[in-house]
Amino acid sequence: MDDLSKLEPHVLAEQLLALGLRRAAFVHTGAQGLSCSHPELRELAQSLVGNTRDYDRHQAVFLEVGEQTGVLLGAFLHRTRRGQGIGGVRLWPYASVADFLSDGLRLSKGMGRKNALAGLWWGGGKGVIARAPGQRHDDLVYRAQLFQDYGRFITSLRGAYVTAEDVGTTEPDMAEIHEVTRYVVCVPASVGGSGNPSPATARGVVSAMEGALDHLGLGDLRGKVVAMQGVGNVGGFMLSELLARGVAKVIGADVSTSVVRAVRERHPNERVQLRVVASGDQEILSEACDILAPNALGGILNPESIPRVQAKIVCGAANNQLLDPSRDAALLRDRSIVYVPDFVANRMGIVNCANEQYGSIPDDPAIVRHYDSRWEGSVYRVTRGVLERAERAGITSTEAANALADELAEQPHPIFPDRTAQIIAGLVADGWASAPGPAPVRVAAGAGRR
Ligand code: NAD
Repeated sequence: MDDLSKLEPHVLAEQLLALGLRRAAFVHTGAQGLSCSHPELRELAQSLVGNTRDYDRHQAVFLEVGEQTGVLLGAFLHRTRRGQGIGGVRLWPYASVADFLSDGLRLSKGMGRKNALAGLWWGGGKGVIARAPGQRHDDLVYRAQLFQDYGRFITSLRGAYVTAEDVGTTEPDMAEIHEVTRYVVCVPASVGGSGNPSPATARGVVSAMEGALDHLGLGDLRGKVVAMQGVGNVGGFMLSELLARGVAKVIGADVSTSVVRAVRERHPNERVQLRVVASGDQEILSEACDILAPNALGGILNPESIPRVQAKIVCGAANNQLLDPSRDAALLRDRSIVYVPDFVANRMGIVNCANEQYGSIPDDPAIVRHYDSRWEGSVYRVTRGVLERAERAGITSTEAANALADELAEQPHPIFPDRTAQIIAGLVADGWASAPGPAPVRVAAGAGRR
């Protein structure tokens, strides 16, 4: 067989089917390292463990070939002492199986840390779906089949991983998953979900800005200038929060004319300066301001952009803002720029939906306390704590946040300690990876209604 990790994901899916396999499981087994469900796939286990940047003794990686679509589906579990793995499912066009696995490893590790720092009784989990070439992803029938495939896969994992919305997926996609599994959150309000998380995320990021200002002894947001890259879902709500807190000015840049027009109409305010920019235009990052809020893309803080940053604080909603987390956190620190790690600032998206099954209350105290600086676990206090720890220890804020998160991730769930490890053991004992499942039915490219 070819080097499996170099294959395109859809080719690996075809090769698995040709071998009579629909599933694969890679499970951490303590001293023995990572076990592999099928000897033919040992190369993939080696590729996971050999990825020293992203692999961190993950508890399990499960793969399945979608029953109706033939698409490669993944579920990744990082630390689950605090509870079942939870995190969004990403739909993305991965060039290779190695990229697919890397993303799942990296993102599930990030979710474990984010959930632990947020004080949630949930562990690290992430889903990944390899976007198939030649398929129309705006075809509603295909999309329903794809997300129902994913939902059935999640059901088969018995609750080890609970999925949610992420890049490339939408609330209607979560409704499709919800058709076939209970292990999904961020479902529409019409079926008991929490709806759009963006207002909560925006408010959380603004709390983190306040914590960072306090850390620097710069008071509150009144009179400050904030520059935002991206004024989409989160950015738009952030703008409202900032204006309500008396900022002097918000400068926003977005690549979308329609997004800028809509935000302008909502905020006809002289304190708001918005501009439409070309996608390669990074000028907003070097704007003269107190706080820079990256709310669009990852990887924008790097050796090229960091020397031009004029802000005292960088604090935004976008995931993976640093192109290289350790190198770029150090570059920011060396320029005395306070960086609030993204997973410290943007926790409220997952906080808003993680506990949907406990019902909803207006101004839910379990959510609202995250904005309350009197609570030690609030975004404000955790931000300040991370920045103080970094300063005391002479390390970067990213290193301080990782260290704190890793300590918290070791705390066992108060009612169900290590239940996910037991679920995984049950899956292995029952031969999950060898279960035949229904015969796959491939969907022709572009088939179905729009
Ligand atoms: P969004 O797509 O609604 O907004 C992003 C905006 O950025 C869009 O308006 C887009 O036009 C703009 N944009 C894209 N490229 C740009 C560029 N080069 N320069 C300027 N603008 C550009 O997404 P969102 O839901 O607001 O999320 C923003 C970020 O926050 C994403 O990275 C997302 O992963 C992260 N995040 C969001 C949530 C949430 O609750 N929505 C939670 C956690 C993290």
